Amino acid sequence: MEIRNVMVVGAGQMGSGIAQVCAQAGYQVFLHDKNEQALEKGMQHIERLLEKAVQKERISPADKDETLQRLTAAKQVDAAASCDVVIEAVVENMEVKTKVFQELARITPAHTILASNTSSLPITEIAAVTNRPEKVIGMHFMNPVPVMQLVEIIKGLQTSDETFETIKKMADTLGKTSVEVNDFPGFVANRVLMPLINEAIYAVYEGVASVEDVDTVMKLGMNHPMGPLTLADFIGLDTCLSIMEVMHDGLGDSKYRPCPLLRKYVSAGWLGKKSGRGFYQYE
Ligand code: NAD
Repeated sequence: MEIRNVMVVGAGQMGSGIAQVCAQAGYQVFLHDKNEQALEKGMQHIERLLEKAVQKERISPADKDETLQRLTAAKQVDAAASCDVVIEAVVENMEVKTKVFQELARITPAHTILASNTSSLPITEIAAVTNRPEKVIGMHFMNPVPVMQLVEIIKGLQTSDETFETIKKMADTLGKTSVEVNDFPGFVANRVLMPLINEAIYAVYEGVASVEDVDTVMKLGMNHPMGPLTLADFIGLDTCLSIMEVMHDGLGDSKYRPCPLLRKYVSAGWLGKKSGRGFYQYE
């Protein structure tokens, strides 16, 4: 199947990054968010990143202009009707995602592949609310999308081989390396990463060491490019909490219980970099 038009639903940090790489790869892209301010912010973020890339001579000014021409801010989700692939990147919440998928299945033609950028939620369950589970798939990009190489491609129970092959090829055209993953809570990336982040939060919660010192241990002691608490702030603490909850519920093992300090920060609205405050404070 040839892919020409792509819609990305959710213009937050992930959705805007996905829209950017799709437009840079030559697809016609609609970026949609139900929140107009978020949509505007997402579009501005893309423009800023492209401008930076021009300044660093990674792309030409013409590349930037052509990329922006291929990108449309869609206030209404109805623009999905002309799309061959829709990639959903709304908040990590099953109720919200299933509503979005029900609507997308209603709006889009039968050939449209519906992909989710979920970090941890079951693709099989998301697919089950649509009229075409064979065309529903997980396409899990890493943050920040324009920089990170990996895409986990997750096959739900009923995802067809044809859908998998189409999405794998699409990931190739985006310049990404993909891995095939089966549908289990947290997939691979977050099943391994999130318990590490959660344990780092426990170390702070139990007074083992300060936020800065926990990060220093992992950076200088383990050669991680950034500490786990900085990384948690970048991912979003609400997203981290949702992923831990999905793994705790789905795998039923107490080792996945979210740290109470993580819950406390999220209930205070300290969501990390995107809200200006998490384990660290941001401008
Ligand atoms: P975010 O909070 O930055 O953005 C989410 C956006 O979705 C918001 O702009 C919000 O207005 C919009 N939204 C919410 N409900 C909507 C709806 N019904 N229709 C349209 N838009 C809607 O979140 P994010 O960090 O970009 O995460 C998005 C998804 O990507 C989540 O499923 C998350 O688990 C996943 N993900 C996140 C990361 C990360 O590092 N943050 C990495 C990989 C995957």
